[in-house]
Amino acid sequence: MIRKSAIALLAAAVAFAAVTVNFRHPCAMAASGQPASAIDSKRPVPQYRLTGSYRLKPIGNSADGKAVLLTFDDGPKDESMIRELLRILDKHGAKAIFFVNGYRAKRHPELIGLLHARGQTIGNHAWDHLDLSKASEAEADRQIAEVQRLIGELAGKAPRFFRPPFGAGGERIKRLAKRRGLLYMTWSIGSLDWEKRNRNKPERVVRNVMDQLHPGANILMHELPWTVEALDTLLTRLEEAGYGFIDPSGIDTGATDAAERSTNR
Ligand SMILES: [Zn+2]
Repeated sequence: MIRKSAIALLAAAVAFAAVTVNFRHPCAMAASGQPASAIDSKRPVPQYRLTGSYRLKPIGNSADGKAVLLTFDDGPKDESMIRELLRILDKHGAKAIFFVNGYRAKRHPELIGLLHARGQTIGNHAWDHLDLSKASEAEADRQIAEVQRLIGELAGKAPRFFRPPFGAGGERIKRLAKRRGLLYMTWSIGSLDWEKRNRNKPERVVRNVMDQLHPGANILMHELPWTVEALDTLLTRLEEAGYGFIDPSGIDTGATDAAERSTNR
C-alpha cells in the first residue's frame, strides 16, 4: 500500500516536472542560447485559437473565455514609450503582441531586444507601412519575409503572427503569410487611437475599447503617447470587468515546427 502511493507520488512529480518544462517561456530558452528549433518544441500547449472574425476562443476547457488580446502596432519608435508600456504590462501581469515594421526595427534593434527580453511577443507588420493589397505578389512576399529574417536575427526567433498595415490584406496576403508560417489577423476592437479626434485624449481611447468590449477581443492599439497614458487605466477597467489577458505564446498558429523553422532561415 505504502509502496503503491510512493509510486503514485513519484509519477505525479514526474508529470509535474514535465508540465513545468512544457510551460517554460520560449524567451527563457532563447536566453540559454539554444537553437530556434529547440525553442519551438518547448512552446506551451496552445490555449486559444483565432476565429474567422479574429477573436480568440479557448481551446477546450483549459482557458478562460473572458479574456482579451492586447496588441500594439507600428513600433518600435521610442524607448521611453516602450519602457512605459512594458512597466504597465508587467504591473498587470499582461503580455501583448507588438506588431513591428521592419524599417523601424532596423532603426531600433535595441528596442526589439528589450521587448523580447521582457517576454513580450513580436509580430510582423510588414517592412514598410504600405497597403500590401496593392503590392505585387513578389513585393508583398518580400515585405513579409524581410521582417521574418530581421526579427529572427535580433530576437533569435522569427514572428508567428502577421497583421497587414491598415488591415488591408485579402486572400492573397493571407496565403502569403500562411506560407511563411504566420498566423494572419486584423483585430476585433479598434481603440481608434489613430484617429485625429482622439489625439491626446487617453480617456477616449479607454472608452472606445470599453464600449466595444467582448470575450476574446483582439484589441488594436498603437505606440502613441496618449495610448501609453491610457494603458494603466484601461487594463484596470478590464480587470474590474472580470477580464484576463491572453498570453500570445499560448495562441495556436496552426503552424508545424517544420514550417516555422523554414521561416527562420
Ligand atoms: Zn499599422
